[in-house]
Amino acid sequence: MQSWSRLWGLPTLSQEVKVRFNGRLRTTVARLLSSVEVIEVGPRFVASQSKRREILCHELAHAAANRRRGGRQPHGAEWAALVRRAGFDPVTRLTVSQKSSRSKQSRDGRYEHRCLVCQFVRVARRPVRSWRCAECVRCGLPGNLAVCGPVEFVSWEGEKPITVLWNLPEPVPEALRDKLRVPQGDNSKG
Ligand SMILES: [Zn+2]
Ligand SMILES: [Zn+2]
Repeated sequence: MQSWSRLWGLPTLSQEVKVRFNGRLRTTVARLLSSVEVIEVGPRFVASQSKRREILCHELAHAAANRRRGGRQPHGAEWAALVRRAGFDPVTRLTVSQKSSRSKQSRDGRYEHRCLVCQFVRVARRPVRSWRCAECVRCGLPGNLAVCGPVEFVSWEGEKPITVLWNLPEPVPEALRDKLRVPQGDNSKG
């Protein structure tokens, strides 16, 4: 995303446009919320690993075109030229998988490290703050993983709104975590 921003003469664009996951997007792969400059990606984005760069480029080009001249036609000449400069064909429909991977639940006091963009999950016995999502880093995103403590979460395909999970504040600080920890043999609570 950074390299496209520079290529398009809008070097700060990639930092200003945020990317976030929206589990409720059913047919839409991704979309740009123009007013707030947020790219929302859905389960189909997650399922189409090989096209993620292209999808992000498509949406970021919308944001770039909007800034350049208010982009009246979403897929107009300005937008198409930006996508072409980034090395992709300016297509408006992508064939992506219908499958969406189900979120794993963390169990047994394991820490779930979750990418809040593509929902990549890596589980470990301890929180590892240095881990990044390789796939998102490849797409030019920060790739930060949110570390979720040893609790069970609902799947993002479940009934409960995913915002319960994605809006988790900063993880509990290390010092507090020990105090809050459920006693051994009482893992059912918490
Ligand atoms: Zn579009
Ligand atoms: Zn990711």
